[in-house]
Amino acid sequence: MSPATAQSSQRALILLLLLLLGGGFLATSLASYHTALESIRDNIVNTELPLTSDNVYSEIQKDLVRPVLIASMMARDTFVRDWVIAGEQDVGQMTRYLAEVQQQYGAITSFFVSEQSRTYYQAKGVLKQVDREQPRDAWYYRVRGLDTPYEINVDVDLANQDRLTVFINYRVLDYRQRFIGATGVGLTVDAVVQLIDAYQQRYGRSVYFVDTDGRITLTGASGGPQGARVGQALAQIEGLQDLPAQLPQNGNFTYEEQGRGHYLNVRFIPELNWYLFVDKQEDGAVAGIRRSLYLNLLVCLLVTALVLGVVSFALRRHQARIAALATTDALTELPNRRGFELLANQAIQEARRQQSPLCALLLDLDHFKQLNDNHGHLAGDEVLRGFAAQLRGDLRQSDIICRWGGEEFILLFKDTHPAQARQLAEKIRLHTEQNRFQHAGAQLRITTSLGLAELHQDDALDQLIGRADRALYRAKQSGRNRLCEEST
Ligand code: GH3
Ligand code: MG
Ligand code: MG
Repeated sequence: MSPATAQSSQRALILLLLLLLGGGFLATSLASYHTALESIRDNIVNTELPLTSDNVYSEIQKDLVRPVLIASMMARDTFVRDWVIAGEQDVGQMTRYLAEVQQQYGAITSFFVSEQSRTYYQAKGVLKQVDREQPRDAWYYRVRGLDTPYEINVDVDLANQDRLTVFINYRVLDYRQRFIGATGVGLTVDAVVQLIDAYQQRYGRSVYFVDTDGRITLTGASGGPQGARVGQALAQIEGLQDLPAQLPQNGNFTYEEQGRGHYLNVRFIPELNWYLFVDKQEDGAVAGIRRSLYLNLLVCLLVTALVLGVVSFALRRHQARIAALATTDALTELPNRRGFELLANQAIQEARRQQSPLCALLLDLDHFKQLNDNHGHLAGDEVLRGFAAQLRGDLRQSDIICRWGGEEFILLFKDTHPAQARQLAEKIRLHTEQNRFQHAGAQLRITTSLGLAELHQDDALDQLIGRADRALYRAKQSGRNRLCEEST
């Protein structure tokens, strides 16, 4: 396999791994995120919001429904009706009655306004006469014209903001169903507001009431959705514009404002003729699992990068080892013929460029077959290894030494004139002759024949080696253990 193919198949493998690992991680992370998201949504819509609505509703029943019952009892009281029909004679009787109701039920105020005399009675006595022209008395004229038996009027007392007061204004009819006045009580709704605030702060749910005209009638201390105040119409609040049209319907809604999702539970409270809204912003609820998704993805990214890094490192090392194996001789650890060709072509090009001399020396051990026969093949191997080590020791780092095959070696001397090369070759020859190669306690001796040739101007590698080979042949022919040189 060529290096280019190896590299592209390596890249394909890394890409495949990236796809498998990255895709797998991404799929599992997203799947678990969606499952968690679904279960959180399901929990919010089907459990959290309805439960909050139930709790607020039961508190409302205590806090708001009670005054309605009290006012209804007052409006049907025969004393009140008889006293009016008899001409409102004894003011003391009425004020005593109102004081009694106020005290009994812990109300802030109790009142009766007579249609006949337009007198406003309170527990402490006659307060005033109501006047159609007075804005403060508008409520009475509104109640006078009501189709329903009563209205609930939440008074935002600006002087005393946190004590929200609810007035129940009940129509009083005589025995022939004619309107004879309005009565009722005023109570604080602190408990409901506190409950609403607790939900707001503890669970990030906003709780508010809306009347049938789509106006906010009661909120927690910090306001309704997006800080909306009592009296504001839903139609003016972002994301809720379309809701009033769907209002007669109870149930769950979702809406968005400024890119944030909201869950909304709506329930109609017939006693108040109001809707109870419980609103939860999605962000807070899913922030935790979104954070863990990002963390997951980060971990996956790191693991994927780490795995790919390790795999690509291992592949590169493996490939380098295979490449080295292919060009290295296992016995002597010298470059083999293939390795030599790469190195030699490089050296020849270099010599040409720099116009420097280059010599090739071919060596063949003498009577090596005999050595094998006498001492065994392993001894032969040992001699080959020792001979290679000797060559390495005799030569410079820049010289190319290679096992040409069998017991033949080839050397290239860079930047070396034939005269220097001859000296080097002679040194090798002599060293070989004197060297003792150890094997199994025996001291083995060997000689070598050498053929030297110099690189000519237009030589190809083959021609250079051909000449060295001819020189070697002559060295063998002329008695071995000697150096011959071939110049043409
Ligand atoms: P000459 O002086 O003419 O070169 O004689 P020679 O015996 O060396 O000649 P020949 O080329 O006939 O024999 C070479 C021998 O080298 C034959 C072969 O068994 C042996 N040989 C080649 N490679 C190896 C090797 O890796 N290990 C061992 N132990 N022997 C090898
Ligand atoms: Mg040989
Ligand atoms: Mg030989």
